[in-house]
Amino acid sequence: MSYVVGLTGGIGSGKSAVAQLFAERGIKVIDTDAIAHALTAAGGAAMPAIRAEFGDGVANAEGALDRAAMRAIVFADPSARKRLESILHPLIRSESERRLLADSADSPYAILMVPLLVESGDYRKRVDRIAVVDCAEATQIDRVMSRSGLARSEIERILAAQATRAERLAAADDVIDNDGELTALAPQVERLHVHYLALSRQFC
Ligand code: ATP
Repeated sequence: MSYVVGLTGGIGSGKSAVAQLFAERGIKVIDTDAIAHALTAAGGAAMPAIRAEFGDGVANAEGALDRAAMRAIVFADPSARKRLESILHPLIRSESERRLLADSADSPYAILMVPLLVESGDYRKRVDRIAVVDCAEATQIDRVMSRSGLARSEIERILAAQATRAERLAAADDVIDNDGELTALAPQVERLHVHYLALSRQFC
């Protein structure tokens, strides 16, 4: 795969909605969150190392990662987050690379969806351009509350652990505004798609 656009945004900002619109235009979308979920599902490739590091208490009866148990460990101990990431990140990276290379002739460019792209030096080097889905924090909180039923305080804790809106915008080559209606996304994605097609042609 030649040209890679990193798509990012805070929790509940609308990354999946935007990614779906690129996919509808025939663009390959690689979702690193989905890869992380597969790695930590029952029988997932990361589970043996995670159990060895944190104990069997972080696996549920089926052998998948018990996310609530893991979240509690990570919030209590910042070094635990680093240890978890050192298991997951190399596996996510190699699977993303594998997918970027697979059938790469079918898509003129690829979207690599990385929720914590701005926070991670590694991915910034991997992508040719960064597109940020942006909305107000209050909008993020409302959307996540109605989607997941997580408590406001828990969402605020997650937001505080992520890059700020200003940090994300400072890293953006392109910004997709998602403070309005869902229908406002398609024209913005269409404009970017045309632009990325042109950039990917220059890149070849
Ligand atoms: P996460 O990182 O938490 O997985 P995300 O950035 O992928 O989230 P989405 O899943 O696309 O965000 O959107 C979060 C929720 O908000 C979803 O339920 C989605 O349907 C809804 N949503 C997204 N954009 C809008 C919008 N413009 N208007 C109303 N609801 C929206």
